[in-house]
Amino acid sequence: MSCIFCKIAEGSIPSTAIYSDDLAYAFADLHPQAPVHVLIIPREHIDSMMDVDQSESALLGHLLWVAAEIARTKKLGKGYRIVVNTGSDGGQTVDHLHLHLLGGRHFTWPPG
Ligand code: AMP
Ligand code: ZN
Repeated sequence: MSCIFCKIAEGSIPSTAIYSDDLAYAFADLHPQAPVHVLIIPREHIDSMMDVDQSESALLGHLLWVAAEIARTKKLGKGYRIVVNTGSDGGQTVDHLHLHLLGGRHFTWPPG
């Protein structure tokens, strides 16, 4: 198994844990783009949003809830951004589905 995020989820590659449960793991991004930059991943390997089916909709909802819960813990009451880069046009570089939770500064729109 060569997926770096699977290895992070199982603990064989170190990471700074932010949240953990049976379904999801969240850890600090190695190259933070904001004062708060957390990655939320399913423990189950899913390549990207292009590979999810309806049976995984509850898991996707859970990942969003985890992001919101971390944002509350991090006191991001002024707002934050949740990003799911998908595929090459979407800028995805790690092929294990992940949510970016970004906060602690103002973000502009449209993104680059
Ligand atoms: P994406 O471009 O959406 O696929 O995001 C991948 C993210 O994973 C980037 O923000 C990287 O900084 C981050 N990343 C890659 N390797 C690690 C690692 N070992 N620990 C924490 N974050 C990582
Ligand atoms: Zn994986």
